[in-house]
Amino acid sequence: MSEFQPLDALTLYDPFEGMRFSMHQCFLCGTPTSSLQDTVPVFADWLMTRYKLQERQIKLLDMSIVQYQHLRIACCPTCRTQHVEPLEARLELAAREGLPGFRQVDEQTLFLWLGKMFYGVLVTELLTELDPLAKPQYPLAENAQLLRRFQAFYQPFQALRVPMEYEDFVPGSLFILEADPAQDDMPFEYDDDLSTIAFSIKLDETVLVACLVDNGIIRQAMGRVYQDAYRPLHPIQIAEFKARVYYAAYLLNVVPDYYPRPVQPGDVEVVMDTLIDDVTGDIFNPWDNSAYGQSLLEMWKRWQIPLPEILRDPAHPLTFLYEANGQPRYLQQYPEA
Ligand SMILES: [Zn+2]
Repeated sequence: MSEFQPLDALTLYDPFEGMRFSMHQCFLCGTPTSSLQDTVPVFADWLMTRYKLQERQIKLLDMSIVQYQHLRIACCPTCRTQHVEPLEARLELAAREGLPGFRQVDEQTLFLWLGKMFYGVLVTELLTELDPLAKPQYPLAENAQLLRRFQAFYQPFQALRVPMEYEDFVPGSLFILEADPAQDDMPFEYDDDLSTIAFSIKLDETVLVACLVDNGIIRQAMGRVYQDAYRPLHPIQIAEFKARVYYAAYLLNVVPDYYPRPVQPGDVEVVMDTLIDDVTGDIFNPWDNSAYGQSLLEMWKRWQIPLPEILRDPAHPLTFLYEANGQPRYLQQYPEA
């Protein structure tokens, strides 16, 4: 057995090589960890305290239930104190300012923060699959295409530990939405679609929605919708926006490739290049309104809008973001008086 060599500051790490997922190896650098203290919460302590999440439950893919407070991943003391805790401290400060605070956080920091939560949930799922008693319906670890997507995500995500510049790209699509406080009664909401790396978290009036592995393609494609949504939205409108992002992430047909440039003596950061192969296929699979309708049905569960109503006009699924004439719709309340 070879001794573990700690990585130097600019050396990248890939846990997908040999599938090195474990509660005894740092999720950022692979250093073996020993004690229970060598972990970090997936949802930071400040977040759990602020939104009383400790005992709230989250359902995993194998249908087992865990409490938020028990979601933890292995993290060595160096990565914890030098990388994870400073990131959380930065976001805790931003969260205190509410929406304007989040809008001031730079995009890489926001990507890393959302990425850390996403990755923590993903590792929890992967480790649960390794439990011989678990019987997941769709094992993540056995799906080569999914693993390729997770592995791609992990490349720019390493910026959490390694100083890194993304050369002329953003790794994911991030959206910051504002919930209309007059209509809003959910201080915290979280959901994800692991298979497409789509993710959403709501903190008071701020709703962050993201696809973390598309090099910003979905945000480009949704440029106008995002611009039109730059205003306080009714929760049902936010749910519709999320349905659009999640469905677009589902249609996304490409996985970016990432290429770190060789590090030269004296370098202080890794420069990451990227390439999307759009030669062999389309970037998006074709949009299908009936499938999009299913996505709306799921996101609108709270309001119990039946599918036939959503698809009454099959060419134009129900929308609360837009009027029939294509102008942004202002929704005071739902159902409308
Ligand atoms: Zn580490």
